[in-house]
Amino acid sequence: MPTEAPKEAALEALERARQFQPEIAAIRRDIHANPELGMEEYRTAELVARKLEEWGIEVHRGVGKTGVVGVLRSGNGDSAVGLRADMDALPIQEATGLPHASTRPGLMHACGHDGHTATLLGAAKYLAETRNFNGTVNFIFQPAEEGLGGAEAMLKDGLFERFPCNYVYGMHNRPGLDVGKFIIGKGVRMAGGAFFDITITGRGAHGARPQESIDPVVVACHLGAALQSVVARNISANDQAVLSITKIQAGDAYNVIPERAVMSGTARTLKREVMETIEQRMKQLSVNIAEGFGATAEVDFRFLFAPLVNDDAEAEVYGDAAAELVGEENLNRNAAPAAASEDFSFMLERVPGAHINFGNGASAAVHNDRYDFNDDSIPYAVALFSRIVEKKLPKGA
Ligand SMILES: [Zn+2]
Ligand SMILES: [Zn+2]
Repeated sequence: MPTEAPKEAALEALERARQFQPEIAAIRRDIHANPELGMEEYRTAELVARKLEEWGIEVHRGVGKTGVVGVLRSGNGDSAVGLRADMDALPIQEATGLPHASTRPGLMHACGHDGHTATLLGAAKYLAETRNFNGTVNFIFQPAEEGLGGAEAMLKDGLFERFPCNYVYGMHNRPGLDVGKFIIGKGVRMAGGAFFDITITGRGAHGARPQESIDPVVVACHLGAALQSVVARNISANDQAVLSITKIQAGDAYNVIPERAVMSGTARTLKREVMETIEQRMKQLSVNIAEGFGATAEVDFRFLFAPLVNDDAEAEVYGDAAAELVGEENLNRNAAPAAASEDFSFMLERVPGAHINFGNGASAAVHNDRYDFNDDSIPYAVALFSRIVEKKLPKGA
């Protein structure tokens, strides 16, 4: 049997995905109306598991607490592709006024993870029905992408040991980009991010008797200035880094020297090593400056997002799959890296793969209370996930 030309196969995939778009859109709106915070996605995870089972896919619940993995095998090939979506919502009061708006006060799907979950379900349905591949597909439904460590929770729970993958792919919607368009690039695509809290403990006293105190506010002032030297003096001019102190909290009164001061903020880098340098220098400066004043400092440095780095070869193949669907003119293969972060990066540190953005049309920005996922983008996202599997696990290979 002659292999179908990629372009024809892509258009067939798009047509099939269009046919069941209403079914997937209904699932998406159901998830949207019932948002759940990271690590609390019990209803969403159960909905995902039941749909996968309905389509004859092997289901593993509770991977990384509320994560779900579906396993679909076809033929005798021993290669495996992982497809990943995130499931969590945000603590935002929805203001869209839409019929499918959140029914839970103070919670909303403002980043489109409802759409990501639904489109990965769409790809599962497509691949379970067509089975036009040889090998294994692992559908990875991840909890808690929004800074709550969902990717790492799944990895610590043995994601890639229990469900080995040769390649892994992810995607995120992009407001402001037309539906049916894609953005991808090679190498570093998104910044790594960390949050930190530095707790300085001194000794409280009357504001008029400073000689009886060890003033944590004075320590914080010196430390705040000293920390600005980290990016300026410890990071190469060839690397990019941001270190921002965004909160300083100490004291409640005009005449009381407090016992404690807490400084918090964020660091962003495009390389993991650079983040490690920042953490190490921050700890050294904090502990030693505090000690110089007779106080102590404790640093809680939380590395929430590794920089997201696409494998060059996989970005190329993923881009090819997108171009076959929508034409090279609707794909930007050389987009600049984004300052935002995404914890799919931790999976890409373990397994070669790539992350792509697809157009959400003229919607509000993500994390805005008027944002909504665009259901018109479903066929494109479903078809791309399905086609990358067909390309990486070809029949007859
Ligand atoms: Zn988000
Ligand atoms: Zn997101």
